[in-house]
Amino acid sequence: MKVLTAKSAGFCWGVQRAVRKARELASRQDTGTLFTDGSLIHNAELMHQLESEGICRWDGHSPLDSGTLIIRAHGIPPSRREALGRLSVRLEDATCPDVARIQALIRRHARKGYHIVIFGDPGHAEVVGLEGYAEGNGHVVASAADVEKLPAMSPVCLVAQSTQLPDTYQTIIQAIQQRFPDAVILDTICNSTRNRQSELIELARQVDAIVVVGDAHSANTVRLAELARTLRPTHHIQTADQLKPEWFNGCRTAGLTAGASTPDFVIAAVRTRLESMP
Ligand code: SF4
Repeated sequence: MKVLTAKSAGFCWGVQRAVRKARELASRQDTGTLFTDGSLIHNAELMHQLESEGICRWDGHSPLDSGTLIIRAHGIPPSRREALGRLSVRLEDATCPDVARIQALIRRHARKGYHIVIFGDPGHAEVVGLEGYAEGNGHVVASAADVEKLPAMSPVCLVAQSTQLPDTYQTIIQAIQQRFPDAVILDTICNSTRNRQSELIELARQVDAIVVVGDAHSANTVRLAELARTLRPTHHIQTADQLKPEWFNGCRTAGLTAGASTPDFVIAAVRTRLESMP
């Protein structure tokens, strides 16, 4: 089968930066044991690979009194940063600068008295981190229906988790503007997410089916698969061995894309398997 691969498939610059930082630290003699605070990025295959290189995921509970702890690409709330600062470990920050920018925008508006509405996945690491910067005045919404349930408040500032779909954000913006006409609306979906989604729309025009590769916990991969399903028959997989030949009966060309945290070696294995199919 012919396979067209999206140029943007795989690591975004924020993930590349976090992984490079972890590997650079691992190559040094002065860092002691290296841990990541939770998953550095949302990809089980890469986390296994990093573990084999001596970079281990800290569960947040086990005693930790030496070594180096890397803050994940998704960022963390200020309260957690303070708590980690009290541990006897060296802290290294791998927060994606695009996420750090949203954190700074939230903090700036919260300090001016704004109530911050965050459009995002409740409980997702980035969203938990962002909410922490709202200084107690944050509200997470996942849908326009959630906007209806918000209390009366003013002034209001709306931001989005960096990996949301622009079209869905637009429906949230409309719902916010109806309820809070003077709300400040900030465009916080990152360029990497926008490019990846635009390229997928273009790719879909040339293929019969789409394969989206990435971890089920990766917000941007889940969004990518959501978008793909509106365009072509879509299969979201994590690894090549999950591909089933019968999915592609009658299919001449498959489109391949991947989330921002999917390593190249996983994408290459999927591509090879797809190309071997009749
Ligand atoms: S998807 Fe965007 S915000 Fe998230 S790590 Fe990548 S560049 Fe940063």
